Amino acid sequence: MIFTPESYKIPDKSMMPFIDAEEIENLLANTVSSPEKVDQLINKALSKKRLTLQDTAVLLNANDSASIKKIKDGARLLKETIYGNRIVLFAPLYVGNKCLNNCEYCGFRSSNKEAIRKTLTDEDLVKEVEALEDNGQKRLILVYGEHPDYSPEYIAHTVKTVYNVKKGNGEIRRVNINAAPLSIEGFKTVKDSGIGTYQVFQETYHPKAYKKYHLGGAKKDYTNRLTSLDRAMEAGIDDVGIGALFGLHDWRFEVMGLVRHTNHLEACYNVGPHTISFPRLQDASTFIQDDRYRVSDEDFTKLVAILRLAVPYTGMILTAREPEAIRKEVLHYGVSQIDGGTKLELGEYSHKEELNHSQNLNKEQFKINDDRSLNEVIDELLDDCYLPSFCTACYRLGRTGEHFMEFSVPGFIKRYCSANAILTLAEYIMDYATPSTAEKGWKVIEKNLLDLEKFQKTDEIKSRIERIKKGERDLYF
Ligand code: SAM
Ligand code: SF4
Repeated sequence: MIFTPESYKIPDKSMMPFIDAEEIENLLANTVSSPEKVDQLINKALSKKRLTLQDTAVLLNANDSASIKKIKDGARLLKETIYGNRIVLFAPLYVGNKCLNNCEYCGFRSSNKEAIRKTLTDEDLVKEVEALEDNGQKRLILVYGEHPDYSPEYIAHTVKTVYNVKKGNGEIRRVNINAAPLSIEGFKTVKDSGIGTYQVFQETYHPKAYKKYHLGGAKKDYTNRLTSLDRAMEAGIDDVGIGALFGLHDWRFEVMGLVRHTNHLEACYNVGPHTISFPRLQDASTFIQDDRYRVSDEDFTKLVAILRLAVPYTGMILTAREPEAIRKEVLHYGVSQIDGGTKLELGEYSHKEELNHSQNLNKEQFKINDDRSLNEVIDELLDDCYLPSFCTACYRLGRTGEHFMEFSVPGFIKRYCSANAILTLAEYIMDYATPSTAEKGWKVIEKNLLDLEKFQKTDEIKSRIERIKKGERDLYF
């Protein structure tokens, strides 16, 4: 199918926008917060209930330091008691940066004539995946600009290519997608290639602000983007990721937008978003942020905690856009996935020589603030007593709604998630870890086994670890 901006409008007539900016602004302006209400809502979230839009406004309007501390402590407790200490690792892989859209904030925008445009050839793609596998990655998110070259058929082709790359003990077991909104037909084509999550970020949920930043191409159309994940659902992709680019408009409005979007998906499809992303706007080529909307570290950490409480069952993704210290803090408030060893320049994973910074800026979409290797990220997680995980079991066993099960099925995390995290960490240690990371890793595994033993038998996990030591791979529950 030839992919044109018009082609994804045809099936969309029934899709109506569900964001009422005035409603959100009124809620933010008129909802009164108090320490008592904040306490009540934290208890509501801790008893595994979803917060309403109005509840979320109460938390957003809590500005005294005692309430903010309670919100952060509440998110921390929710994360610790429900999800434990696992952190899932992944890497983004940029496949092509050709783009017809003109998003003011993005280095790939069509008006940026300095940008060096590139699409990985199949050969380049294989090399990139081999390099990622050599580092120990098992989960990727493929990223594309919006361009007729990146049709659903092309995206599906790249997904299949990635799954077919096997180097040594390496393989990619889950491919997620971050690409342009598609038609229902287009989503079906991509779904058939075996993707995990399809992510589309709304960038800003505020319609007027959206118009200001999106100056050309199909992405100009707010409603087309807003309803894109409805089309994904109609196409049978029930694993979707939502997100907002924090820094384009008032961050409180964006949090409300994310919660409203979640409500919409729950109401219409009986399943909420698999993941929520909350990237903070970074400098990109000549783009200068509007200081009114710049999100401070203080507000950013608060908003992550509020999202954790408002939508307690969903996966929360933090990326290398954030500096190490912020990553460290928000991991406590409920982030469940982070990237490690990230490179945003096309072809850079397999390209060994260092480029100087000015060369880089013309090839990257924006600057990242954490350029540590995957091993360094894992090493630090181990130091902080987290359990790094490359688990892909639910998706591969057809256990859809995995985050919801983690959240709602008693014992699910211990029985499946922790056990699989331990097994995938054991594989990483055997195949890729540096000696000192390996030593720390085995200690963390031992400690986690001891913790699990208080609740269940661990003989089968231990026997599988021995099988992994002898060379077997991909053992999961
Ligand atoms: N082209 C597709 C799209 O726009 O949805 C997918 C790829 S785009 C490269 C992925 C995401 O990068 C965007 O949705 C946006 O949120 C994020 N992004 C763009 N410019 C950014 C910047 N300057 N800082 C941080 N994130 C940015
Ligand atoms: Fe293109 Fe996406 Fe960048 Fe917009 S954010 S210019 S659509 S790559």
